[in-house]
Amino acid sequence: MSAQTGPIRPAGRADAIHLETDKPVTLTGARGLLQDEKLIFELGGWDKTGVDLPEPELDASDLGDLVRAEPIGLPGLSEPEAMRHYVRLSQKNHAIDLALYPLGSCTMKHNPRLNERLARLAGFADIHPLQPISTVQGALELMDELSYWLTTLTGMPAVALSPKAGAHGELCGLLAIRAAHEARGDARRRVLVPTSAHGTNPATAAQVGYLVEEIAQTPEGHVDLADLARKLGPDVAAVMVTNPNTCGLFETEVVEIARLTHEAGAYFYCDGANFNAIVGRVRPGDLGVDAMHINLHKTFSTPHGGGGPGAGPVVLSEALAPFAPLPWVVHRDGALDLREHEERSGEDGRPQAFGRMCAFHGQMGMFVRAYAYMLSHGADGLRQVSGDAVLNANYLKSRLQDVMSPAFQGYCMHEALFDDRWLADTGVSTLDFAKAMIDEGFHPMTMYFPLVVHGAMLIEPTETEPKGELDRFVVAVRALAEAAKAGDVERFKGAPFHAPLRRLDETAAARKPKLRWTA
Ligand SMILES: *Cc1c(COP(=O)(O)O)cnc(C)c1O
Repeated sequence: MSAQTGPIRPAGRADAIHLETDKPVTLTGARGLLQDEKLIFELGGWDKTGVDLPEPELDASDLGDLVRAEPIGLPGLSEPEAMRHYVRLSQKNHAIDLALYPLGSCTMKHNPRLNERLARLAGFADIHPLQPISTVQGALELMDELSYWLTTLTGMPAVALSPKAGAHGELCGLLAIRAAHEARGDARRRVLVPTSAHGTNPATAAQVGYLVEEIAQTPEGHVDLADLARKLGPDVAAVMVTNPNTCGLFETEVVEIARLTHEAGAYFYCDGANFNAIVGRVRPGDLGVDAMHINLHKTFSTPHGGGGPGAGPVVLSEALAPFAPLPWVVHRDGALDLREHEERSGEDGRPQAFGRMCAFHGQMGMFVRAYAYMLSHGADGLRQVSGDAVLNANYLKSRLQDVMSPAFQGYCMHEALFDDRWLADTGVSTLDFAKAMIDEGFHPMTMYFPLVVHGAMLIEPTETEPKGELDRFVVAVRALAEAAKAGDVERFKGAPFHAPLRRLDETAAARKPKLRWTA
């Protein structure tokens, strides 16, 4: 990979191999509507502002020697300048509102605008977590209804709404598991995780203080039951399995995994991030799951990206429910209330809730969006969500499998996984292929994950893609695949040619981030 750190204009080499040879490089660096844009610190100045306020009558004596002598240095902009800056920036990136985003629900699927409208209702958007309970009955009712839907869809008796992401939900689930073992005086030390697990699974187990041990995977992409049985023992606190797994396959032996886990006195944690593939069809509670997080920002379409906000409620089995974190909604004297302090207690009289996951109650805006998604689909519509998610992935798989190499045979769940065998001897790598997709107007698929598949390309269209868009994607990917096989290596090695920035040194960016715009 070339280690370019600055913007490279699409000149020279790009023009040499693309159809645009007859088009001159522009004089301004703009490419039609795609404007060159400076950093906000370069554009703005402390002396510019979008608002005109009277000079404050400040009593400087209150601040003593804390009074600032220099301008604060914020990059002021007038309102139209600020607006244009952010609109121009937004046009430099791929977006779910532009085209299919094959990272799938893991990053973004279509967020229905109805959900946005409801989340902005003042009764939800403008309330404060410390308001008197009598003034937020509607919000509590929504949380209560959401809990009802989540427990019904999963077949589990309890749910903790407050975790704010999938990984936060994993932490919540494992803290409940640790509390349950500790309540019995059973200090177990190990957590078993399959090799194909999402990285957050082993990271969470380690964070909670457990030793993480890997369970092998079969050549067909499933948990190796014999290896699991060998590694289970009186020291194992939990087994964490993603279902459907990160290879896009349903763990058909999940009931046996749960049975073996329980037989060893451990709890069965299911990573439910991929619940959109099974919602309305399978209830994890029926499979023997003890704890599972649900990413509202994946399955139930609440928007996320750039680190948040998400919501990762955790459903809990009968055995773990007493250890659920505070707070939770309760019905009291014909009204709703929030249980903020532990009133139940274990046999020894001590409270059992393991504590709290966050200061207040979780992401209210996400609860509203997810609940709106549930109500607008209804029970039958949610069942169709999983059907469409699986159908769309299998459609892509079947339309691409003659030019690419599927990692596993047969039907997949919500994502189609290919390896890089089909690129052998072409001189094109998975990374090059992904970069060339940017030139064709699509975001790359997940690359090099799961780690158990060589040069992995994981494509998740999600249930919200119409057939026309899937076909447009197929045409682009097939054309690229044929170009790679025909030896058109240049198209891939230098890609992307049409993006505002080309190949960046991502390792240096992660290891030595420049956090200031000036040296
Ligand atoms: C997304 C995902 C997670 C983590 O969820 P976050 O909300 O990003 O913390 C965990 N496991 C799997 C399988 C996922 O897809």
